[in-house]
Amino acid sequence: MMDSMSTPNDGVRPRHGSARIAGFRETVFATYSRLAREHGALDLGQGFPDFDPPRFALEALAASAHGSQQYAPLGGVPELTQEVAHDVGGWLGRELDPSQEVLITVGATEGLFAAVQALIDPGDEVVLIEPFYDAYPADVVMAGGVPRYVPLELQDGQWRLDPDRLRAAVSERTRAIVVNTPHNPTGKVFRPDELDLLVAEAERVGAVLISDEVYQRIAFTQHVPLASRPGAWERTLTIASLGKTFSVTGWKIGWVTGPAELVGAVRMAHQWIPFDVASPLQRAGAAMLRHARESNYYDELREAYQVRRDALLEVLQPTPFRALVHDGGYFVVADSSALEYPDDVALCLDLPERVGVGAIPPSAFYSDEHKAMARHLVRFAYCKDVGVLRQAGRRLAALT
Ligand code: PMP
Ligand code: GLN
Repeated sequence: MMDSMSTPNDGVRPRHGSARIAGFRETVFATYSRLAREHGALDLGQGFPDFDPPRFALEALAASAHGSQQYAPLGGVPELTQEVAHDVGGWLGRELDPSQEVLITVGATEGLFAAVQALIDPGDEVVLIEPFYDAYPADVVMAGGVPRYVPLELQDGQWRLDPDRLRAAVSERTRAIVVNTPHNPTGKVFRPDELDLLVAEAERVGAVLISDEVYQRIAFTQHVPLASRPGAWERTLTIASLGKTFSVTGWKIGWVTGPAELVGAVRMAHQWIPFDVASPLQRAGAAMLRHARESNYYDELREAYQVRRDALLEVLQPTPFRALVHDGGYFVVADSSALEYPDDVALCLDLPERVGVGAIPPSAFYSDEHKAMARHLVRFAYCKDVGVLRQAGRRLAALT
């Protein structure tokens, strides 16, 4: 009936997707979380805590029900921008202007996107260190930029940044270099000399450094903020967020800090992306940063993660997986070459069904050109209950 009544559709069919997104596939986190759920697996894949946030965070959330539930100011609610200025100022030993040198964003994810949109013109090159957090190349491509990849090299169980490879990738076309320390997925904490090399390369060609430091509070060797290195502040945008530090990855409250001119450029992009960020969560975030500053919360957080990390390392010992060095963040990358899988994707597609454990294939964090480097690697998240880690270890040991 309906068919005979409807008018024939002679119109031009809409194009489903721009050229910009044509090369995108579903993110590895969506795919492997779904797979783990389908098999009821213990999920050591996507990095989110399976335990509650600290009580003071939930109390701050409850308190944020009082007060304004309306739009926040463009740059962020003043309580939060002031706390962030204080926090970052503490890392850097300098006073930050909360209204000019801080911008609150929808998690680090939007901070990264807005920063890249603000800096990159079509054809500009952005140097990305591999393995990379998978949003980086997508951000660059959406801005019309061109990623240039520099893989870390695995030598004697250590991830190293080869100075010659970096120099070869940085040129007059380089507009930005993205750094992530502590690093997802490897757990590498960049050393001061490596950070200085990155600063020197950025200086050489007039590039901006974008430093993703979302795991700054989960480091077992000294985390050195890139912006604290000599000559770095003027050319560095630093990005962090509440998610990992307070076990609230679902809140998506982040911040971009740096010199006023650079942060101002990011604000210009940000105002057309979300305009502003959930005001009650920003107020809660301010209270949490204040609480953390006035207590020993950050030490407790690090110690609790050290226990989880050690538990994962211990339970991996009797398994075929050989854990690589990991100094921070909440992932362990392990070598899986003792198992007979053609590559990391085949392994991670099979693990949930075969032994009931979810993991992430690190090749998702490499360009097509370098994916083979991850063929025998696997990423396990240890931001999980210690009992879950132990149980997962027993299941993985069944693979031997
Ligand atoms: N950068 C890295 C390296 C990450 O691992 C994550 C984790 N999600 C993000 C950025 C995104 O952070 P947020 O959840 O605050 O958007
Ligand atoms: N950062 C998290 C991870 O690496 C995932 C975040 C996301 O799902 N985008 O596992």
